[in-house]
Amino acid sequence: MSVETQKETLGFQTEVKQLLHLMIHSLYSNKEIFLRELISNASDAVDKLRFEALAKPELLEGGAELKIRVSFDKDAKTVTLEDNGIGMNREEAITHLGTIAKSGTADFMKHLSGDQKKDSHLIGQFGVGFYSAFIVADKVDVFSRRAGDAASEGVHWSSKGEGDFEVATVEKADRGTRIVLHLKSGEDEFADGWRLRNIIKKYSDHIALPIELPKEVAAAEGEEQPAVEWETVNRASALWTRPRTEVKDEEYQEFYKHIAHDFENPLSWSHNKVEGKLEYSSLLYVPARAPFDLYQREAPKGLKLYVQRVFVMDQAESFLPLYLRFIKGVVDSNDLSLNVSREILQKDPIIDSMKSALTKRVLDMLEKLAKNEPEQYKGFWKNFGQVMKEGPAEDFANKEKIAGLLRFASTNGDEGEQVVGLTEYLARAKEGQDKIYFLTGETYAQVKNSPHLEVFRKKGIEVLLLTDRIDEWLMSYLNDFDGKSFVDVARGDLDLGNLDSEEDKKAAEEVAKSKEGLVERLKTALGESVAEVRVSHRLTDSPAILAIGEQDLGLQMRQILEASGQKVPDSKPIFEFNPAHPLIEKLDNEQSDERFGDLSHILFDQAALAAGDSLKDPAAYVRRLNKLLVELSA
Ligand code: ADP
Repeated sequence: MSVETQKETLGFQTEVKQLLHLMIHSLYSNKEIFLRELISNASDAVDKLRFEALAKPELLEGGAELKIRVSFDKDAKTVTLEDNGIGMNREEAITHLGTIAKSGTADFMKHLSGDQKKDSHLIGQFGVGFYSAFIVADKVDVFSRRAGDAASEGVHWSSKGEGDFEVATVEKADRGTRIVLHLKSGEDEFADGWRLRNIIKKYSDHIALPIELPKEVAAAEGEEQPAVEWETVNRASALWTRPRTEVKDEEYQEFYKHIAHDFENPLSWSHNKVEGKLEYSSLLYVPARAPFDLYQREAPKGLKLYVQRVFVMDQAESFLPLYLRFIKGVVDSNDLSLNVSREILQKDPIIDSMKSALTKRVLDMLEKLAKNEPEQYKGFWKNFGQVMKEGPAEDFANKEKIAGLLRFASTNGDEGEQVVGLTEYLARAKEGQDKIYFLTGETYAQVKNSPHLEVFRKKGIEVLLLTDRIDEWLMSYLNDFDGKSFVDVARGDLDLGNLDSEEDKKAAEEVAKSKEGLVERLKTALGESVAEVRVSHRLTDSPAILAIGEQDLGLQMRQILEASGQKVPDSKPIFEFNPAHPLIEKLDNEQSDERFGDLSHILFDQAALAAGDSLKDPAAYVRRLNKLLVELSA
């Protein structure tokens, strides 16, 4: 037993305590994953050492053979993992093993409901890493020394996984980390070579460095104890360097969990090797679920970058556009230099061409998923659709491809679920329809019942219903798809093109002519509130409607800008009325100018309400309406 100095007891961060509690109680059905998590950490630690040693070879201290060793002691009921990676010093052990550094952790923890079934699902989004040791152990000892530090600068971290942990400074001869798990009673099945070997084969075969287990050898004659011989139990080669045909789905899935710190299998992946002017391999994954911090600015994103098999950096952001920030994976380049930095990555033209190739790969992979696994794609869209909608604005070159991946709610059904793709929409378009019609608004209920849809319902034309906050902004970047332009049905002078017959058009012109007098009267009555008054082609049931000017901001954009404190250019709506509606007929016959004024203002305000807008002067609306009601009942 070595001497321990500067011993202190420290408390875990609150979030760690919560996580520990949750983990111990919710992951019991899949206990063996603790080994995968600890091996994954050890492998990361070795990657870090290998990288740091490029600049400082002395860090290797002569021991350049990097590996992980797993051993066990049946009598003492322990399992021990040892790596000769980068190691931790005292400070690092305290922060890395006592706190969770991820941004938004506290927010995430607030989502925990106390319902273990639900929460164990959430934990998957978080990744559990080191703390999974406490699923099987009631005490964990970590001995570590950072590469380059003196042997006397080792640290011993120890905890029972309850409220606190102890740290002390100890002597440690070798760099790296040794973790001793004192198995809980009932978990001693893990102190077994056969069991450990199976778990390693199952979850960690893809780890690129050797994972060794002691070999059972008989004691030599005259010796009491057999000498320990070590045996590598995993394949120990970088998975992405192997030919696609030789990698099994399970291996791809386990590798994903290792790099993404995810618990669930990915939805899909794409593994490629590029040769020629540029040489690199890539392995890209679409996760099944959004991480809890997808919308946080500082949330980790980007790929793991290797240069000629050497790990260089995590979260290399320059290889994919922001709207694909949920993609996880690895790129391994033969062209970059080993001392490449983030700054260089941002400027390097090699990266630009890799970025466009990788972007295309991801979009192709998503297209395939949408085509072959529509149900899975639905799930993908639920999780990542909002982010994909940032695409057309960010990635001009791939606009059409991204547009094909978008999914919308529509008048065609499914109660607001975003399931309709543009290709599908066009495939069932009406004969003569050369436009893609859409309507934006606050909520599905509001747009579904909007008077703007009346004529479309009558003619049986499908309209896309867009109610995400980002939608109006998105549509300002989409002009057309497959040669068909997008038309906002609430905007401008709706022209149904070939969908209106010649007779319809003629009849409409005649009606418009006959109502010129009413149009003038309404203009006078509504005055400054409107930009224009005209006869509507949009309506069958409602008396009136407000259309947005061709160049004006829509309601959603206006509200977003207003909410962010920006000045919004003043714009007035176009008042359209339905000449066939009894209320309009009544209005047309109204002799009293006062009554005419009141009624037209009420119609105007109602149209604003139906569009989801608020009234400029609600009290005036109520006053006018009540006046009419009194007259009615008089
Ligand atoms: P994550 O791996 O997701 O960061 P963990 O809880 O698994 O979270 O580990 C926390 C941190 O502890 C790691 O990021 C790493 O800095 C450190 N760590 C864990 N295991 C080792 C190890 N074997 N060697 C060196 N550092 C380690």
